[in-house]
Amino acid sequence: EEKILEIKNLKKHFSLGKNRILKAVDDVTFHINKGETFGLVGESGCGKSTIGRTIMGLYQKTAGDVFFGNSNVHELTEKELFILRRQMQMIFQDPYASLNPRSTVREIISEPMEVHQLYKRKREQNEKVYQLLEEVGLNREHANRYPHEFSGGQRQRIGIARALALNPDFIIADEPISALDVSVQAQVVNLLKQLQEEKNLTFLFIAHDLSMVKQISDRIGVMYLGRLVELTSSETLYEQPLHPYTQALLSAIPIPDPDVEASRERIILRGELPSPINPPSGCVFRTRCPFAMEICGKKKPQWKEVDDNHFVACHLFHDEVKNNKTKMPAVN
Ligand code: SF4
Ligand code: MG
Repeated sequence: EEKILEIKNLKKHFSLGKNRILKAVDDVTFHINKGETFGLVGESGCGKSTIGRTIMGLYQKTAGDVFFGNSNVHELTEKELFILRRQMQMIFQDPYASLNPRSTVREIISEPMEVHQLYKRKREQNEKVYQLLEEVGLNREHANRYPHEFSGGQRQRIGIARALALNPDFIIADEPISALDVSVQAQVVNLLKQLQEEKNLTFLFIAHDLSMVKQISDRIGVMYLGRLVELTSSETLYEQPLHPYTQALLSAIPIPDPDVEASRERIILRGELPSPINPPSGCVFRTRCPFAMEICGKKKPQWKEVDDNHFVACHLFHDEVKNNKTKMPAVN
């Protein structure tokens, strides 16, 4: 499979002054294959959006690499990055905040085409606007209206049309359905799926809830406090989640069948999400993990492929713990 994006040991730290450092993204490694949808999931503040912005080159990285195709995104000149950005676009969570209320739909969708001087003639650009509106389930009559005249779902369609204006290969959708009514969420997900097939798009689909990415993702990465804790195919993640955090997230999703629901054990996470400014030592999840062991406070669990294409960062799956607990390294 051909990779479109590769992230290697990416770190994005923010200095908050007085030696305080926010480790928003801390040593994250994964890739995205061409044509797939990669779901990135975790509670708000876990670093998902920061990864998105760092991929786009909107944030400088602290360490590591982001490769898009053959380009090392953070080593490009501004001009090269500008050209590359045609291929990568973003869709945002709040389609109202991200659409200028004083611009017509035509102006909103045309803007990226004008910035990149895609068309010489206005007429061609307008035809493209109409085509895009139709592709997202709106129509040319909508072109002269303003964002406030539309529902949340329609506004997100406008945001999607804008993201498609430059014919990108790769789209980062940052919580694109989180702000929408449940009834509208599936429609937007279906639209994204349909556009993906028609245009051979690759998606990074960011969400705070596993139930939102299940439908659309081929593979899913789960993040906690700036780190990836598990990554595998969507099916495997739902059927055989390995990391205690993933298991807890899945156990929080209600199951429609009341019998199954009643007999099921829920994993209740203790405590609050710690601050990413002063994260726990060793495994960042250990303050809330029902299986935490002594080693978890001493040693950061490695990112390890425990099964084909199934990666986990947890000591439970390391040989030293798995095979013989008495052989565990002395920790005191
Ligand atoms: Fe829990 Fe330890 Fe695994 Fe972290 S490394 S998830 S604390 S068992
Ligand atoms: Mg976010």
